[in-house]
Amino acid sequence: MTHPSFMTTLKWAEMISQDVRHLAFAKTGEPLLYKPGQFISLHFDHQGQKLKRSYSIATAPNQDGLIEIAVSYIPGGPASELLFGLKPGDRLETTGPYGRFVLPDHSLKNTVLIATGTGITPYLAMLPELEKRIACQNAKVTVLFGCKSREHLLYGQRFIEFSKRFLNFTFLSCYSRQFPLNPEAFERRGHVQEVLDEIRCDPTSDMVYLCGNPNMVDDVFSRLKAQKFAIHQIRREKYISGT
Ligand SMILES: Cc1cc2nc3c(=O)[nH]c(=O)nc-3n(C[C@H](O)[C@H](O)[C@H](O)COP(=O)(O)OP(=O)(O)OC[C@H]3O[C@@H](n4cnc5c(N)ncnc54)[C@H](O)[C@@H]3O)c2cc1C
Repeated sequence: MTHPSFMTTLKWAEMISQDVRHLAFAKTGEPLLYKPGQFISLHFDHQGQKLKRSYSIATAPNQDGLIEIAVSYIPGGPASELLFGLKPGDRLETTGPYGRFVLPDHSLKNTVLIATGTGITPYLAMLPELEKRIACQNAKVTVLFGCKSREHLLYGQRFIEFSKRFLNFTFLSCYSRQFPLNPEAFERRGHVQEVLDEIRCDPTSDMVYLCGNPNMVDDVFSRLKAQKFAIHQIRREKYISGT
């Protein structure tokens, strides 16, 4: 399928941690049709070269029709420099939506959504759909989010509030560098790999989604394979640099 490009205009942006910027773009023409979990690509010129960088969409399709993303700052990275300097009214060439990192069409089984860093954004976009699935399909969903410290917990309140509303939804965050002195019940120490045992993913019933740091995705994938997970039970979105 071809993806014609369209122009997006930055409407607003805010820092959501010390190195992550959330940006909301308006699309010219019809609203973008996409499924929660998909990503867009931004195209721009850098030192005479045409570059492309991809970003997961952080919101479900909504009335505003805005396309929102969260970008982690990589010092010296061409897209990082561009997107952290972007001002409301600035325009970018965009293509998409892309990707199969979406919830299945069939009814949802027990599902474990694992992310590091901005890899949490597809799950944020999935929340309204998860709400329906939890209510209608009695699905059990766990989100496990890994980051450096509580200060890097992205959209934490959204997930915590969601977990308070739905008994079948569990949210856990884990911190690889700095653990709070007074941890909350949802906070764990270490990397996501170290919290996997607690979640006890079940190869006879569960679907597992992995998103973010490619090393984390590969490592957890290997562990799940060793636990007899079939490939079709694992969906992966690796935030590979510069594609
Ligand atoms: C499908 C897909 C979805 C993506 N979604 C998102 C998203 O939602 N949010 C987001 O922030 N990024 C996302 N990415 C990554 C994004 O596309 C860019 O690669 C990222 O923003 C860096 O681009 P850059 O031009 O600033 O730096 P690059 O030119 O890509 O990298 C500059 C240098 O930094 C290194 N580097 C790159 N990333 C990291 C890192 N995380 N940690 C340490 N060193 C690094 C590279 O190896 C390179 O040497 C996604 C990637 C893919 C493939």
